[in-house]
Amino acid sequence: MRDDNAASALSDDELEAIRDSVRALCQDFPGEYWRKLDEKREYPTAFVTAMTESGFMAALIPEEYGGSGLGLTVACAILEEIHKSGCNAGAIHAQMYTMGTVLKHGSDEQKSAWLPKVASGEIRLQAFGVTEPTSGTDTLSLQTTAVKKGSHYVINGQKIWTSRAEHSDFMVLLARTTPKDQVAKKGDGLSVLMVDMRDALKDGMTIRPIRTMMNHATTEVFFDDVKVPVKNLIGQEGKGFRYILDGMNAERTLIASECLGDAQWFIKKATDYANERKVFGAPIGKNQGVQFPIARAYASFRAAALMVKEASAKFDAGEKCAEEANIGKMLASEASWEAAEMCVQTFGGFAFAEEYDIERKFRETRLYQVAPVSTNLILAYLGQNVLGLPRSY
Ligand SMILES: Cc1cc2nc3c(=O)[nH]c(=O)nc-3n(C[C@H](O)[C@H](O)[C@H](O)COP(=O)(O)OP(=O)(O)OC[C@H]3O[C@@H](n4cnc5c(N)ncnc54)[C@H](O)[C@@H]3O)c2cc1C
Repeated sequence: MRDDNAASALSDDELEAIRDSVRALCQDFPGEYWRKLDEKREYPTAFVTAMTESGFMAALIPEEYGGSGLGLTVACAILEEIHKSGCNAGAIHAQMYTMGTVLKHGSDEQKSAWLPKVASGEIRLQAFGVTEPTSGTDTLSLQTTAVKKGSHYVINGQKIWTSRAEHSDFMVLLARTTPKDQVAKKGDGLSVLMVDMRDALKDGMTIRPIRTMMNHATTEVFFDDVKVPVKNLIGQEGKGFRYILDGMNAERTLIASECLGDAQWFIKKATDYANERKVFGAPIGKNQGVQFPIARAYASFRAAALMVKEASAKFDAGEKCAEEANIGKMLASEASWEAAEMCVQTFGGFAFAEEYDIERKFRETRLYQVAPVSTNLILAYLGQNVLGLPRSY
């Protein structure tokens, strides 16, 4: 995604200053703000605007395209602080990794046309259309087709769980350009297209929101003869699956950082409460039955953080990092869930009252063991690709 080593060039003090700025910005968006949106399942527009204007969301976009040209380590720190502050980056984080597909595989013309506008916020690149209802994790079996007719691809099919589609101007879409039974290599035949959703909405694209257990602005998207200009094809036709796989290490490491942020939020909440809350004349944290789960959640968070840090450091150094990104994502999503569970138990009944934000964060953090990749698929990757065990699929 980047050629230089800008991230490692940042000193600890500089990174800490970025973390401080993110924390300061997040103070304008307290629990009450998120609670109100959660109740109505509304998009956090004010938060997204503030984050975009601050430039934090353009951390990975190179300076020549209007971003700050920082590395994954910095981007991870930004997302971690957002979540540690009790906010949620789910409304905006996709820009960080979808942009990578354009940056790495797009032409100079495409990069110059889109990336500066993504960096400034003029274009919202928040939608990522990969998952489909019938194929699920088996991406190579996706059914949406893009058929070239003259100067356009004509898209037909359906995507599911396309988050933020209603709040995005463009979608990075993965569609089949060559039928599965006609490709030379198993991974061929899928292509990445940049869909201008503003045009597509007038030309056969329909978005249907899905109400979920947390406020995530996710949707189903239907394509009915939607035309996308051939010039919006990213890279080579038929090589799109590889391009999407390429971006997954960054995506997994960024999401893992959000989990680390969540874990710290739950641990802080529980620690404060266990010190304050007196039952039977003593703080509940004095009881090992309360104290040890907090300590264990902290240990899990620290261990996961080491792996996530290794993943981002390797990514920034241009080294292979799929193993670390996958392990980091799995451990961090499990650590945040462990911390969430522990926090509910520490608070007892009050955990269930909306005003404490615990039940909301509990619902939010559960997602990450399923999306953007489920734990089983990470274990299958490790078993099959790292350890050399037989393939299950
Ligand atoms: C809120 C939300 C937002 C999302 N946002 C987006 C988005 O913006 N864009 C997008 O493209 N997708 C998005 N997704 C989709 C997400 O990436 C998928 O839900 C996830 O990858 C799992 O796929 P699936 O739901 O189809 O599960 P399935 O593939 O149907 O799998 C179901 C279960 O079976 C297990 N399983 C399947 N195959 C195997 C196997 N071979 N071995 C062992 N276990 C297996 C899985 O681990 C899983 O637990 C989102 C999902 C959610 C819930």
